Amino acid sequence: MAITHNRDFEPHYGKCVWVAPAIRRVVAQNPNAFTFTGTGVYLIGTGDVAVVDPGPSLPVHLDAIEACLLPGETITHILVTHTHTDHTAAVPDLATRTGAHTYGFGPHGPVSSDDPLERLDFSDHISPEEDAAFAAEWADLPEELKREGPDTTFVPEVVVGHEPADSKGVSGLLTAANWTVQVIHTPGHTSNHLCFRLLNDGTGKSALFTGDHVMGWATSVISPPDGDLFAYLASLERLLLGSDDYYLPTHGPVIDDPAPYVRSIIDHRNDRTEQIVDLLAGGTHRVVDLVPQMYADVDKRLWRAAGNSVYAHLLALAKEGRAEGANGTTAITASWHLT
Ligand SMILES: [Zn+2]
Repeated sequence: MAITHNRDFEPHYGKCVWVAPAIRRVVAQNPNAFTFTGTGVYLIGTGDVAVVDPGPSLPVHLDAIEACLLPGETITHILVTHTHTDHTAAVPDLATRTGAHTYGFGPHGPVSSDDPLERLDFSDHISPEEDAAFAAEWADLPEELKREGPDTTFVPEVVVGHEPADSKGVSGLLTAANWTVQVIHTPGHTSNHLCFRLLNDGTGKSALFTGDHVMGWATSVISPPDGDLFAYLASLERLLLGSDDYYLPTHGPVIDDPAPYVRSIIDHRNDRTEQIVDLLAGGTHRVVDLVPQMYADVDKRLWRAAGNSVYAHLLALAKEGRAEGANGTTAITASWHLT
């Protein structure tokens, strides 16, 4: 089953856009292949305001967040969905500017090694010329605008969202004078990923801030070892326990009528797993050969990330005892086969 993505989004860089009476958004100008049009930063409530994922540490962007406040308003809370730098780099600066406290699940989990044996080599499918062009393009990017990487420096002042969750999947509650937010632990994209549910957006609707867990413009990247496909699927099911009117991902447009969309993501992931099973059965054994077949229509700049997601599926198959790497190994660079 195909997912219907929606890339129709005008970021209005640096401008304060009112999404609902209790929700404002400012988009940072850090567009790239991973952030789409950039990081969408949400402000929740009026008076005492919570900021969801401050975004990249660009002074002009921090100014724009503060310029979004009305006279007399204060940023009192900084809520962090997960520790990728395009979400968290500005946390220390914003906390210093405002005195707000930070809320999150915890520090980043395990980071993949720099071992060259763990690096995917696409040279059979990406020409040296293309590769050189991508590398040059990459080198030209300011450090701040590069792809989302793990932020291993973030430690929340207030730890929220740990299990157990209630029957609706909620494992925390944050309140201020004018707003109430439920915390939902949604591991998968990262192990410390949280979604935040604003119970009333000012019109009586419930809005879920989904970070990178559910996005409208693209599927989420799941990078082992911290990313986990089974956890991700369980976290999608967890969202379906709620009945949100709409989702606000960090990147891209609002997702209206979210439940069918979430179901389509679950179906899509299960289809991807079966596609990999078919390709393994058909004689394709390496991640670097699976990706070009599975993601032929996707920008090659994203193939390394796609390779991580394919690897997440292979690890899930290994957990189920359906596939393994050569000699029983589970490395991303291994030659994989069905058991
Ligand atoms: Zn992320």
